[in-house]
Amino acid sequence: MEKEKIQSQEEPKKILAHICCAVDAIYFLKRLREDFPKAEIIGFFYDPNIHPYEEYLLRLKESQHACNLLGIKFIEGDYNLEGWLNKVKGYEHYPEKGARCVLCFDDRLQVSVEKAKELGCDSFTTTLLMSPKKSQEQLLKVGKKLENLYGVRYIHKDYRKGGGVQEMNRLVREKEIWRQDYCGCMFALFQQKGEESLFDLIGFKGRLPGTKEEHIFIRQLKVEASLKDLPTREEEFQFIGWYPLRGKLEIPKLKKVIPSLIKPFSSPIRGIAKVDAVEKVGDFIFYNKQNLTVQLVDRLEDYPIKGSVLGNPTFLVERKYEKLLLENRIAAFLEVKIKPSKSRNLIIGDIKTAQRLFLIPADTLQCGKGIAPERVSEMIKTLEGEIKNKKTALVILGAQSFNIGYEYLKQRHPYVEEKKIEWVDYS
Ligand code: SF4
Repeated sequence: MEKEKIQSQEEPKKILAHICCAVDAIYFLKRLREDFPKAEIIGFFYDPNIHPYEEYLLRLKESQHACNLLGIKFIEGDYNLEGWLNKVKGYEHYPEKGARCVLCFDDRLQVSVEKAKELGCDSFTTTLLMSPKKSQEQLLKVGKKLENLYGVRYIHKDYRKGGGVQEMNRLVREKEIWRQDYCGCMFALFQQKGEESLFDLIGFKGRLPGTKEEHIFIRQLKVEASLKDLPTREEEFQFIGWYPLRGKLEIPKLKKVIPSLIKPFSSPIRGIAKVDAVEKVGDFIFYNKQNLTVQLVDRLEDYPIKGSVLGNPTFLVERKYEKLLLENRIAAFLEVKIKPSKSRNLIIGDIKTAQRLFLIPADTLQCGKGIAPERVSEMIKTLEGEIKNKKTALVILGAQSFNIGYEYLKQRHPYVEEKKIEWVDYS
């Protein structure tokens, strides 16, 4: 491409700021606006380097939220994962701050400068400059190269200096911005977390407690509420998470898979258990190895349980399969992950003064059954006036299928039980 002349060296009038994440953006954009008070600033979220997609969505929502707080226009770029993977092909094993990162900056900043040109911006910059883990020299090199190629000025600011990082951290806490724990790509994730990273890359059906899917749901509603100027507050809590990875129950002789669900907090099975029924007691069939248990139910649906105590590996199966299960050898496998997890309750409104509380589970049952975000958006819209008048509040409860969100809410706000409570059910 032929070099284009930089449009002007005057004060920028329209700046496109590439956004990598909300944590870096909240302080960087604030400072940028202070430095160029007359310029129009557009936040551009273009980050196909973020994996998995759920993590991308989470950072997208957060960045949108940060821009809302600052009153900065926000636009989203394409999630061109394939293009990005092709760009860094052969550099997968390089460490962070190495050659792969230069290619990654190249891609993100090139698309940003093209967007800047398309939107008639005279300057562009990136919030990557705020990140302590990014090389300023690399960013300067890439930015200047693109400035020369496209004729759009590259604004290089190191706002980290002079206590900038501390100020950024303070702002992140104050504004309840969610902080990610890895740079973005799956390669950095592998290098940083080893085997543990596999869990980060798994997508679960529905929104299981403490997963990214549940978190996205909560953040999305938080953004919506703050756009309407409704007060929001997040209260994070920890719990022992239980996640079914894979499981199957079948009768090898008949080549028949028995439809089943895994009972929450079942222990895992070692390898494949080939077992025979020992006895049936009430609704339970007990097998002769690995404490495998089948619980017979009328209809196959999810059973949220109270507490978080691990039990036998237990499959829920409809009663009509009882005879088959008692008379045949079955083969079963079950992989689950148990790990310390975090979730949160989101309070929309003033919980102290509100006389009426709507309690809404953020998570879904294992089968994916849960409350659609559109339904809660509609509630926020309908109840907006009452929430502003402090008569009503909404509480989005995290990990409620494990009965944790509400318990935690009562711990933090013991008076809630005295209020008029309306539950919004999973169905
Ligand atoms: S570590 Fe970060 S900057 Fe480097 S390639 Fe991965 S996502 Fe891009």
